Amino acid sequence: MYKSENKICQNCKQDFIIEPEDFNFYEKIKVPPPTFCPECRTIRRLCWRNEMSLYKRKNDASSHHEDIITIYHPDEKLVVYDIKYWWSDSWDAVAYGKEYNFSKPFFEQWKELRDIFPQQSLSNSKAVNSDYCNVAEDSKDSYMTSACFIIEKTFYSNRVSEIKDSSDLYVVHRSELCYDDIFCSDCYHVLYSLNCKNCVDSYFLYDCHGCINCFGCTNLRNKSYCMWNEQLSKEEYAKRLAGLDLTSYSTILRLHKKFKEFYLNALHRFTNQIKVVNSTGDNLEGTKNCQNSFDTAGQVEDSKYLHWALRIKDSYDAGPGVGIGELMYEVFDGGLGSFRSLFTNVVYSSKNVEYSFYCFNCSNLFGCIGLRNKNYCILNKQYSKEEYEKLLPKIIEHMNTMSYVDKKGLIYKYGEFFPSELSTFCYNETQAQDYFPLTKDEALKRGYRWRDKKTNEYQITIQAEDLPDSFKDVQESIPKEIISCLHNRECGDRCSGAFRITEDEFRLYKRIGVPIPRLCFGCRHDARLKVRNPMKLWHRSCMCDKENHANHAAGNCEVEFETSYAPGRPEVIYCEKCYQQEVY
Ligand SMILES: [Zn+2]
Ligand SMILES: [Zn+2]
Ligand SMILES: [Zn+2]
Ligand SMILES: [Zn+2]
Repeated sequence: MYKSENKICQNCKQDFIIEPEDFNFYEKIKVPPPTFCPECRTIRRLCWRNEMSLYKRKNDASSHHEDIITIYHPDEKLVVYDIKYWWSDSWDAVAYGKEYNFSKPFFEQWKELRDIFPQQSLSNSKAVNSDYCNVAEDSKDSYMTSACFIIEKTFYSNRVSEIKDSSDLYVVHRSELCYDDIFCSDCYHVLYSLNCKNCVDSYFLYDCHGCINCFGCTNLRNKSYCMWNEQLSKEEYAKRLAGLDLTSYSTILRLHKKFKEFYLNALHRFTNQIKVVNSTGDNLEGTKNCQNSFDTAGQVEDSKYLHWALRIKDSYDAGPGVGIGELMYEVFDGGLGSFRSLFTNVVYSSKNVEYSFYCFNCSNLFGCIGLRNKNYCILNKQYSKEEYEKLLPKIIEHMNTMSYVDKKGLIYKYGEFFPSELSTFCYNETQAQDYFPLTKDEALKRGYRWRDKKTNEYQITIQAEDLPDSFKDVQESIPKEIISCLHNRECGDRCSGAFRITEDEFRLYKRIGVPIPRLCFGCRHDARLKVRNPMKLWHRSCMCDKENHANHAAGNCEVEFETSYAPGRPEVIYCEKCYQQEVY
């Protein structure tokens, strides 16, 4: 039996604990215990994940070298193929195979392979008229939407599935005609809402389920014609709603402010969860025996440190973006029936694959890139089963004796994910900036690369301040303009300073009745990220002081829990039992 052990993180030098069950897991998948703490491990993977920073660069797959849309900045010394050519049989990935060299650290050799190996411009399969969608499967007539699955006419959204005619969504599923929503599912024409399910024709809702025609409400279940949590008659609701010009920008700003106060006065469940058993984390659905996990949906079991996971079993440090898999460790963007996938990115339907990127339907790979239907390869070189089984333990041994040392002096033996300094992306191009934001100075101080946005890229033709307040007064020609962002690049790195409205987007705004935005997409996305709680947990206790609750003495519930609401935040946090008694 293992005992829990206190370790000091190689990277941040903070303490972290490895529990007995963690040791069991590491033993099961045959890896040594980690030397980075869970948060540093998550950030290290996120440094390799670029969902939405897109560029134009030359297509290395064609003699015309035409411009393609890609996640790789043109300054990165890489070979980039358009997706269609990348997926074709016109080139041979095994031809790039290299003999393992025992006089150089493994990660150095992998980087050499990576630098000459063709990268796919972005991940976008079954796309129709959706060139600007990345990590996208099955998208139609969509624009600037990433980490998505089955979308149509969906714009400026991230981490969404089964969406139609919508814009500005973050973690939304099975919804239509929605705008500016966060953590919502099964909604129709719901705008400016957070943590809602099964709602229709509603605005400014927080934690509402099954509501139709509601406005500015919190913690409601199966209600209609409520405004600011007041039950109105159908006629009165219609009258008050008609009195609001929801296409006016100043009206929406005023309503946002009022809604913020309503949100603060609402009840807050210690964690946003549906069908969850014995688990800790936030935004969990269908999750059993999982600890420290965030943004799960589907069927997730017996795992730890998951992020954005669907049907995962017996896995640690998996995400963002893991679909169907078992025994996954230090993996992101993986699934479709993967088994024992370790230290991988975009490895699908594969078994026993380690330290590999972009491999599909493979087994027994180590240090490979871009292989399909292959077995027993190391650094893309083909071996026989016997040769592979003989060589692999020697390589693992070599990784431990001749380890990669990064420029900060951190040591990467077998069992560590790829060093973030080898990433093809700068910190602020990746999802690390989404979930663990840093200023440029902080990022550079921690040894990350940073990419400044180019200035004077756009010739602004209209200032956001000069747009008509109401959509009704906006000219049909607005899609021809380049609009300045109200933040004018002064808010942080993600502001691009200017933006355009596409024709499709214009038609959508008209249809759902919203004003033209005044902020660029980067600023709008950042604003939504600030609304979600961080991917961190604090030990706190229930703040309920109700007199009539069955589960505690008058005025004092003391149930303790792990919550993503940091101590000192203004929200009143309830335990599950107290919340259930008040809300259902
Ligand atoms: Zn750490
Ligand atoms: Zn901006
Ligand atoms: Zn309580
Ligand atoms: Zn209570």
